[in-house]
Amino acid sequence: MIANSEQRSQLIKVCVLGGLVVLLAGSLIWNFARSAAVNVKPHSRTATNFMVTWRCLGCGNELDDVADRGPRTCPKCGKNEMYVRFRHTCPEHGEFMVAFDYNDKGKPERVKVADGPWVPYFDPATNKFGFTCPKCGRMLDVAEAPRAALKPGDVEEPEIPPDQQVPNPEPKPSAE
Ligand SMILES: [Zn+2]
Ligand SMILES: [Zn+2]
Repeated sequence: MIANSEQRSQLIKVCVLGGLVVLLAGSLIWNFARSAAVNVKPHSRTATNFMVTWRCLGCGNELDDVADRGPRTCPKCGKNEMYVRFRHTCPEHGEFMVAFDYNDKGKPERVKVADGPWVPYFDPATNKFGFTCPKCGRMLDVAEAPRAALKPGDVEEPEIPPDQQVPNPEPKPSAE
């Protein structure tokens, strides 16, 4: 009977469609669960994967390397007084060098502003950061950002920002 066979083909279509929907939903849930599992671990930056300037507190010698715990031995004067340093500024009193020392987790632990004493990077007792202006006590602004550590084969970025660079003169068309 025609009606019967039509009903049967309808039933098959519904079954096939239903099966596809279940498969699709299953794969979506599977993918979601997998991506959720991958996203659980947050990416965090530690001291050892960015480039900074190291400064010798003894002689002022500076060199670039990845950030790390100090001190290191100065290749120039031989003193064991090299630390990571960042330039900081006070809007009223100008620029100060701030030496940073890191803990074994790669987080800043203590700082030294100019020739001042080593102080905690952050003091929970006073709720204050250690890098304050030695003249007015105001928190200093960081005047330079750490650079991403270079991987082997990378080309070092130029010091001049791209918008201030003089573009290469265009090659003159050769006279023919
Ligand atoms: Zn030195
Ligand atoms: Zn100041």
